[in-house]
This record gives sequence, C-alpha cells and structure tokens, in this order.
Amino acid sequence: MTDRARAMADKVEAFVRETVIPYERDPRAKGDGHGPDDALVYELREKARAAGVLTPHILDDGSHMSQRETAIVLIPSGLSPLGPLACNTMAPDEGNMYLLGHVASDEQKAHFLKPLVEGRARSSFLMTEPAEEGGAGSDPSMMQTTAVRDGNHWVINGRKCFITGYKGASVGIVMAKAEEGASMFLVDLPDPAITIEDVPDTIDSSMPGGHATLRLENLRVPASQILGDPGKGFAYAQIRLSPARLSHCMRWLGGCIRAQEIATDYACRREAFGKALINHEGVGFMLAENRILIKQCELMIDWCASVLDTGELGTAESSMAKVAVSEALMKIADNCVQVMGGTGVTGKTIVEQIFREVRAFRIYDGPTEVHKWSLAKKIKREWRERQ
Ligand SMILES: Cc1cc2nc3c(=O)[nH]c(=O)nc-3n(C[C@H](O)[C@H](O)[C@H](O)COP(=O)(O)OP(=O)(O)OC[C@H]3O[C@@H](n4cnc5c(N)ncnc54)[C@H](O)[C@@H]3O)c2cc1C
Repeated sequence: MTDRARAMADKVEAFVRETVIPYERDPRAKGDGHGPDDALVYELREKARAAGVLTPHILDDGSHMSQRETAIVLIPSGLSPLGPLACNTMAPDEGNMYLLGHVASDEQKAHFLKPLVEGRARSSFLMTEPAEEGGAGSDPSMMQTTAVRDGNHWVINGRKCFITGYKGASVGIVMAKAEEGASMFLVDLPDPAITIEDVPDTIDSSMPGGHATLRLENLRVPASQILGDPGKGFAYAQIRLSPARLSHCMRWLGGCIRAQEIATDYACRREAFGKALINHEGVGFMLAENRILIKQCELMIDWCASVLDTGELGTAESSMAKVAVSEALMKIADNCVQVMGGTGVTGKTIVEQIFREVRAFRIYDGPTEVHKWSLAKKIKREWRERQ
C-alpha cells in the first residue's frame, strides 16, 4: 500500500470520527426523511475541503487512486452514513465521476465533471425503469426509454425509477435506447422536461433527494452531450459497474465496522445474569463472527481491487465480491442489533440506521441472485469449453 493512500485514509478517519459523527444528531441529518438536507451536505463538504479530505480518492491532476488505494480511503469515509456525503465519496457521484473521468470529452469534463470533483454539485444516474411497465431493472436490455435524433439534438422520452439523489442534483446521466442501441446522455438538471412523479418512502434514509420516480417528456439534449458514441451505453456501464459496486462494499464495510464498535462497547459495559454480556458465549461468539466476516470483507475487496488495478473489467470478480460482502455486511449488522437488544432497534445509536440501509445493498448494483445467475452461466460456459 502506498504512503499517500495510508496518509489520506488516516486523515479521512480522523475527520469522520471527530467532525462528521457529531453531526449525526443534527436535525438536518434526517432532512425530509429520505436523506439529509443539502444545506448540511454542503456545510460538511466545506469542512472536508478545509481538512484536505474532499474527494480524497481523486488526485489533483484528475486521475484516480488505484482501486486498492481507494479502498483504504473509502472504508473510513463510511464510518458514518454522513461521511461519504461529506467527503464526496458517495454513490452515485463517485461512480459517475469515475465514468465521466474515463469516457467524457474535455468539454464535457469541464462542464459536468469539474463541479462534481470540486464537491459543489451532486449527480444522478437514470437507468432503472418502473417494473409495472416492464422496463429495465435487473435486466437492462428491457430498456424502454427512447432517444431519437432531431437535427442537432436528441429527444428523450420515458420513465425512470429509484433515481438516487435526483432531487437537488445538477448533473444527470440518462440511459436511453437510440437506433444504434443503449446510449448515455449528459443533462443539466433540473430540466422542465423531467418531472418528479414520486419519491417513495424507502428503507434507507441517508441519500439526499431519496430515490425518485421520473417522467421524461421530450427532453432535448444537444448532440454534444451524448457521452462517447451512440450505442455504446452498455459498454460504458461496464466501465462504471465494477468500481462502483466495489465502492459500495468499501463504504458499507466502514459502516459495519462502526456498528461492531458500538455493539462491542455495549456488550462490554452491559451486564446480565451477573456478568458482562460479552462474557456470555452467545454474545461473544456473535462479535467474534463479525470480526471474522469483517476481515473476509476486507480481503474480498482488496482482492477484487487488485484485479481491477490490472486493467481488467473484473465483472465476475466484482460480482463475487459484491455478493460475499453485501451478504456478510447484512449478517454483521444483524448481529450488532441482536447484541444490543432493544437498544439495537432504536435510533439511540447509528446501528439501527446501518442495519436498515445495508439491506438495500443486496439489491442495488445487481441483486445477489442476478450475480449468482451470471456466475453460474460463466461456470457452465467454462465447463463447455473444457469438453
Ligand atoms: C436504494 C436503491 C437505490 C437505487 N438507485 C438507483 C439509481 O440511482 N439509478 C438507477 O438507475 N437505479 C437505481 N436503483 C435500482 C436498482 O438498480 C434496481 O432495483 C435493480 O437493478 C433491480 O431491479 P428491479 O428493482 O427492477 O428488480 P427486478 O428486476 O424486478 O428483480 C426482482 C428480483 O428478482 C430476482 N431476479 C432477477 N433476475 C434474476 C435472475 N436472472 N436470476 C435469479 N433471480 C433473479 C432478484 O432476486 C431480484 O431482486 C436503486 C435501487 C435501490 C433499492
């Protein structure tokens, strides 16, 4: 591991523990119920800027740290649900910045990427479509949103759902089906051609703007704002996919490390039947199991990151890491709630929020079953090749 990454990881950890965690009690952290107020996000980002930990994984020349370096920096940013928002390591911005850094033209980078890297704007990624209309979900090839050329513009029509952070975002990446195939378009937000139909109540509460359902009606996008080439949308999605999946693993590992610390403190102080809870084997074993799972998550992340650092897309490896880590984190968070008894399910500690929010990670960026299904297809393909 490089010295620069270690030094940055230490700075991020100190910043999150000393500056960000106290804000968890700020009423603005709950915001409108979907996620914190943007005013709080930008206040925290100014503090992160002053502490030298804003967008810590992107270097001054615009290049990214390696994935292994990114891991040790993003894990401590996740020690608080507010940490990634403060440090600008949050989804979907982190994945969007990665994608734009790799595919956008210089003009597009100056207009759309720069304010994101500087932490002065938020973005959203518009891919999923409502299930009730048979739109893209686990299977992105079911995409129904269309993009049609009209002179020097594209005209986009369709509906999108679960669009994280849309409300309050100023940069949108819209996936739509053109004649050439799925394509990505960069959009300044808000745009009157995109209306918010609904922001559903969800299990999580740490994303400003929540997860919106949108209608796109004759959205006109200048030809210069297509990302890369028409028809290459799925190929570009592949570039974003593995690093974005892995960064969710990193941030949520940070969250579960924090939950384990809180549960450990509870189990060491709280007594039942004449001794500290941790001295009861049932409790001690849950914390021990968590320690093993946390180490396994660290190793899976580091292994997958090292594959991505070779330049491979790492599609299968990131599927394996995403399944193993998201399932392990769910177990860790559940154990922490259990160790803490009734207190575990209250908002008295952040453990309750971490437990709730980790649940959704088994669905977004590919549900567990979809990753296993695609791995099974790969196993079958390899078997055929051996015959
Ligand atoms: C919190 C959250 C944030 C999100 N943010 C965004 C965002 O910012 N932008 C965006 O575009 N989307 C976003 N999404 C959407 C997310 O990408 C989709 O929920 C996901 O792709 C699954 O699609 P779906 O919900 O339509 O589930 P469906 O496609 O209806 O699948 C339902 C279930 O069917 C099973 N399944 C599906 N296919 C298979 C298979 N081949 N084998 C076995 N089982 C299978 C799985 O168990 C799956 O969970 C977000 C979702 C959540 C929960």
